[in-house]
Amino acid sequence: MNSGQQMLESAQKIIIKTAQKMGLSKDTMIRIIEPEMIHEFNFPMKMDSGEIKLFKGYRIQHNSALGPYKGGIRFHPNVSREEVQALSTLMTIKCAVAGLPYGGGKGGVIVDPKKLSEKELERLSREYAKKITPFIGSDIDVPAPDMNTNPKIMSYMVDEYVKSVKKSVISQITSYKTNSRLISDEFQTNLDYLRSTFTGKPIEIGGTLGRTEATGRGGVMILKALLNKLAGSVKAFNNLTVAVQGFGNVGYYFAKIAEEQGFKIITVSDSKGGVYVKDGLNVESTLKCKQEKGSVAGCYCKGSVCDIKHGKTITNEELLELSVDILVPAAMENVINEKNMKKIRAKIIIEMANGPITEEAYEYLTKKGIIIVPDVLANSGGVTVSYLEWLQGRESKWWTEEKVNKRLETMMIKAFEPIWLKSLESVKKSKISQQIDLKSAAFEVAIEKILQGLALRS
Ligand code: NAD
Repeated sequence: MNSGQQMLESAQKIIIKTAQKMGLSKDTMIRIIEPEMIHEFNFPMKMDSGEIKLFKGYRIQHNSALGPYKGGIRFHPNVSREEVQALSTLMTIKCAVAGLPYGGGKGGVIVDPKKLSEKELERLSREYAKKITPFIGSDIDVPAPDMNTNPKIMSYMVDEYVKSVKKSVISQITSYKTNSRLISDEFQTNLDYLRSTFTGKPIEIGGTLGRTEATGRGGVMILKALLNKLAGSVKAFNNLTVAVQGFGNVGYYFAKIAEEQGFKIITVSDSKGGVYVKDGLNVESTLKCKQEKGSVAGCYCKGSVCDIKHGKTITNEELLELSVDILVPAAMENVINEKNMKKIRAKIIIEMANGPITEEAYEYLTKKGIIIVPDVLANSGGVTVSYLEWLQGRESKWWTEEKVNKRLETMMIKAFEPIWLKSLESVKKSKISQQIDLKSAAFEVAIEKILQGLALRS
């Protein structure tokens, strides 16, 4: 079984388990599991050498019970139909968990973008966008960046999409001999709306302030909401220790914002290893040091020269096994698994990466009493701010960063509340178990919402 098939099997397994617990019929279960539409296509692209190469692309529209399909586009050699389907399924759940008026979708191209020149990458993005143009739209399917795609790539795709739509409008003008000036003006006023078909765009063409930090920021908001539930009302977080694996977009902003809120970040790492400071490190100077040295693992004292005071290096394995209050895997999938689960000593784990804990490890750690905030909730700040970008574009009204962050906070807390309550309900119902299982609760809450959407549609 390849990794895409494994991902798909595990995404479907948890939905089946939840649906069975909820007593759903087989047909309803299939409606939630099977994608509504699978677009699989080949498209040619001219390489810099003049050679024409064929690429395979996908856009899978999994479920639209709650609104337009929403989900990123990834460029990676391991992309497969099964992987895109698994990711689109999880987007359906994540959007429902986050309380967004969206369903789930995902796209991808089988390609190693590192082997393409800048120009080839642009052409690939444009050709892919042309292929998906007929079945996307602000009210239909709203793509975004994912692995190896970014705001710049979104700008190529938006440009291609808008050009295609314009071309079809112009052809209508010609065939119906309508007032071309009027239609052209109308088209111009609707440009922001058309562009809202993609999110994760650069600010100049309708992106939103606050998107870069949103996933990390949302994760800290959920952590604080959880701590407030556990301790009544926590006013200060100064004594709580945090270990963050991954120092990219998600890990860095999580660490930075948590530090600003008073948490003590004692270790961060990247793919080359980490740095550990018992009394807490300074996130900003760690980033500066990483930029100079190429890795956070190089940031520690050598003789009398200290990049980070009292720092020492730590491996990624050691980081995961530290006795900390809060562990934040924010790098990659399956890092906590059957091999190391017995050595995990954190009290709370916030899944900021997608799927960092295997199913077996999740079950083991939950039974042990460790509270795990699942990825579908913990890292949903990113898609939530994508939704806010979409709203701003559709209304052609641009918000301040403060307004975006405020709205994000309201939405994250609103998403957390029913999941917390449902997990408590399960504890009360169970005579033997006292486990707080936020993942099962999140899937149940999401499926309840999807069922409501399906009921409204039929
Ligand atoms: P990124 O590429 O910006 O950063 C990844 C970080 O992980 C880097 O610091 C890298 O050095 C580190 N890393 C890679 N391999 C590692 C290893 N073996 N051990 C330890 N560290 C390693 O990526 P990102 O955007 O921060 O995404 C991180 C995770 O969060 C991914 O699972 C992604 O799917 C998920 N996620 C991201 C967003 C978002 O908005 N960026 C939203 C939802 C989920």
